[in-house]
Amino acid sequence: MGSLTGAGRQEQQRRTEQIRANLAAVREDIAAAARKADRDPSEITLIAVTKTYPASDVRILAELGVLDVGENRDQEAAPKAEATAGLGLRWHFIGQLQTNKAGSVAGYADFVHSVDRLRLVPALSKGALRYDKELTCLVQVDLGNAEPVDANTARGGVLPGEVPALAEAIAEAPGLNLGGLMAVAPLGADPAPAFARLHELALSLRSTHPSATMISAGMSGDLGEAVAAGATHVRIGSAILGIRR
Ligand SMILES: *Cc1c(COP(=O)(O)O)cnc(C)c1O
Repeated sequence: MGSLTGAGRQEQQRRTEQIRANLAAVREDIAAAARKADRDPSEITLIAVTKTYPASDVRILAELGVLDVGENRDQEAAPKAEATAGLGLRWHFIGQLQTNKAGSVAGYADFVHSVDRLRLVPALSKGALRYDKELTCLVQVDLGNAEPVDANTARGGVLPGEVPALAEAIAEAPGLNLGGLMAVAPLGADPAPAFARLHELALSLRSTHPSATMISAGMSGDLGEAVAAGATHVRIGSAILGIRR
């Protein structure tokens, strides 16, 4: 930041105060939802989703103590991770992942929330081994819409019945840890029943894989419902950084 002009420094300060205020409000919402659900707020990890926002915002978040950051596109995440190396960040990959990008994602990510098919498992495993790291992988579950959805409204993930096989493949793959489950609430429907279903699936997974305790659910619009249904990781973008254009 040493090269910033006076105006640049002022802008950076203004942005820091904005993010600080948004962050305080989000933390307050998480704490209130946790209290209401008789949960300890410290059980819930806030992941700041930084997609479309610059590396300078990631630095501000780190200064404010947010070390868990999420991105959904490798092309955007890879350079951002490189630009902020050395800050002790944990990168969460939360978007649909092409098999040919798995190796790149394994280079900077600590968590991949969006494993939605078997073919990704050997690709991620190979990447983790190449970088000599343990990559924590979550199975993304499709909590859909009882009715079939088209490609534009599909939220991704495997059907609940396919969770055990995919989870087992991750658990057995060298270099990969099975973290748990992730989901996005169905569009235009009450998120509460969907998150309750996710919670049930997570408990069932835990009975066979006790260390797979992560439940990644909840975005800016539905974090309260997610926390009520046992989310351990919430993925918050716009409520912290602003509405994406
Ligand atoms: C963008 C995104 C988020 C954050 O959404 P906001 O509504 O901005 O909080 C969370 N999860 C996934 C998978 C996303 O793509």
